Amino acid sequence: MKFDTFLMVDWSGGNDRGPTPKKDAIWACAARAGQADEPVYLRNRQIAEDWITRFLTDERRAGHRVMAGFDFAFGYPAGFGQTLIGTDDPFAIWDWFEAHVNDGLDSNNRFDLAGEINAMFPGVGPFWFNGLQRDIAHLPRKGLDRRDHGMAEKRMAEVQAKGAFAVWQLAGAGAVGSQVIMGLPMLARLRRRFADELRVWPFESPDAPIAIVEIWPSLIAKAVDATKPATHIKDAHQVLLLARTLSVIPADTLRSLLDVPPNPEGSILGLGQQAMLLQAAIGHPPPLRNDCFAMPRGAHWTPVDSALAHLKQHLSAVTAIETVAIAQAAGRFLAADVTAHRSHPPAPNSAVDGYGFAGPAPEGVNTMPLISGRAAAGQPYPGPIPNGHAIRILTGANLPTGVDTVVLQEDVTATATHIAFHGPLRQGANARKAGEDMTKDQVIMHAQRRLTPADLASITATGVGRVQVHRLLRVGIMSTGDELRDAGQTADAGHIYDANRPMLCAVAAAWGYDVVDLGRAPDDRPVVRTMLTAAAQHCDVIITSGGASAGDEDHMSALLHDTGSLALWRIAMKPGRPLALGLWNDTPVLGLPGNPVAAMVCALIFARPALRILAGGAWQTPQAFTVPAAFSKSKKAGRREYLRARLKDGQATIFASEGSGRVSGLSWATGLVELGDDAQSIGPGDPVRFIPFGSFDI
Ligand code: AMP
Ligand code: MG
Repeated sequence: MKFDTFLMVDWSGGNDRGPTPKKDAIWACAARAGQADEPVYLRNRQIAEDWITRFLTDERRAGHRVMAGFDFAFGYPAGFGQTLIGTDDPFAIWDWFEAHVNDGLDSNNRFDLAGEINAMFPGVGPFWFNGLQRDIAHLPRKGLDRRDHGMAEKRMAEVQAKGAFAVWQLAGAGAVGSQVIMGLPMLARLRRRFADELRVWPFESPDAPIAIVEIWPSLIAKAVDATKPATHIKDAHQVLLLARTLSVIPADTLRSLLDVPPNPEGSILGLGQQAMLLQAAIGHPPPLRNDCFAMPRGAHWTPVDSALAHLKQHLSAVTAIETVAIAQAAGRFLAADVTAHRSHPPAPNSAVDGYGFAGPAPEGVNTMPLISGRAAAGQPYPGPIPNGHAIRILTGANLPTGVDTVVLQEDVTATATHIAFHGPLRQGANARKAGEDMTKDQVIMHAQRRLTPADLASITATGVGRVQVHRLLRVGIMSTGDELRDAGQTADAGHIYDANRPMLCAVAAAWGYDVVDLGRAPDDRPVVRTMLTAAAQHCDVIITSGGASAGDEDHMSALLHDTGSLALWRIAMKPGRPLALGLWNDTPVLGLPGNPVAAMVCALIFARPALRILAGGAWQTPQAFTVPAAFSKSKKAGRREYLRARLKDGQATIFASEGSGRVSGLSWATGLVELGDDAQSIGPGDPVRFIPFGSFDI
């Protein structure tokens, strides 16, 4: 089963009358063997249907087999057709809609029709969201007003496709119900027109000249975000990427995607194969394993070093790889070794301004005839220099043939025809050899390195213009807690200001990542769930603060627990308390404690190295310095302590209070003093480990 052409269509429930492309009108894009056409903007359904019909006709005339994907449900939850027309046969349902939908440029009857359908069902519903001003009989405005209509809320496909909307919702952000009603009549007509040639998956075997499949571009949302040029419209890029991706995956793989049990509700192509699709879309690395945060059973309090070792061992890069110009590469993690295209310097040249000749020059006064002309950087001297002669040469100029030594101009007495200087001067003095810095084909930088400004110079010097790097890690930051208010909002004594979010956003930005401010979530599990699902679509990693313990209002740990991937890490450190780690729809979530001091310390100690790995980098331990303590303190064995500290006269002083709510101590400090896991009694002058904030890259 092989297709030549893949046509992907992003359908729309509305119609666009204006001249400029709108983001949610209809877009279509075709691709063949990895090559995508320009996405086509189709202003309204009439134009779209004509265009699609013509496209399919032309492709068939050329003898091509076509897979055409449409982004709306091809069926309704089981039992819908029974009540509507006495059968769940999906094509009979299509034909019914084709006969009953009136689709005009300026208006259509979809809301009235939904009301009429609802009237056939018991109770209220299943369709809802009247998008019109006037009331429509049997069509509730709110989803919660529905009851007893007997229909499942979602098809199996939507249950599996996390974040997909139900077919019953006709309007509102993200709704798809109208697309279905306005799309099925078009499919019914295509079916009739291409009768013998066209088959609809999964109702029929797609092994046909034209296979129609249901798609859901959000399956590759991460790839879309990662590859979309800033100037392109998302829907356009979505159909382009999906068409191109399907056109490159091997025929066997495509066959396995299509291999689902037939069912009258329909299905979504690629469900459950998201990772494979993403990988095909942009060489996306495989997602983390569901058990990547699982600590060995029985561990009661986990030592900091064990926790770090676990992260180091189980995390891997999650960001796609792209090729960028050197000017865009600062701060990125290399995804491949960089090899010198040519030697640096490419040819022997002069390190100084002076006179070049064939060395060495013996002890005593050396006098040489001066060749007329000169060698300068970018203006080489063409001819050879006879032995015993000298030539004027400037810094960076290639050594002319016959020259291997340069005498500094300050050491020379020169006339128009001769130079004189005191020897001795060794052969090769003041000259740079070809390749003395870097040689052609040498690996000059290794994968996982974060490119520094100096690296850009080294890479460029060897003639490399583009490098393979990881896309910037997209880090979402979310706060949780009913007590929180945003900076600048009014708040009463029961509220506290969300201090963690600006802090953690700034930390992630200082680390050079792409920061997504996810706002704050209330202590309300369904809301947190919705926010996590939306965030997981667009973030590579989500950092939350608060709600990470095991209390009644600790929803973050409860939700992650439900995914089966939660590991509640009880780390033997102060400040700290538990860290809640887990995967939400394949996206890692790092749940930090709510206390700002604990949130910050945990971010520096755990999130920093973890994010580095996720971003494509190598594990990194912060640089610490041993300094004398200027304080006294005893601690028990069994946990590590991090104290807010600053250096004064070369000694470490610590903040007056260890209270983890004392956020001002973080501002006071210029780093952390790290006290080991064992019992200690520290007095003034004793050596302690001081880690400046600079070592944490903040
Ligand atoms: P939790 O981990 O949710 O139990 O929160 C622990 C403590 O940190 C509580 O006193 C919270 O009010 C406080 N807290 C939680 N989130 C934040 C935040 N974003 N900014 C400031 N304090 C917070
Ligand atoms: Mg809380």
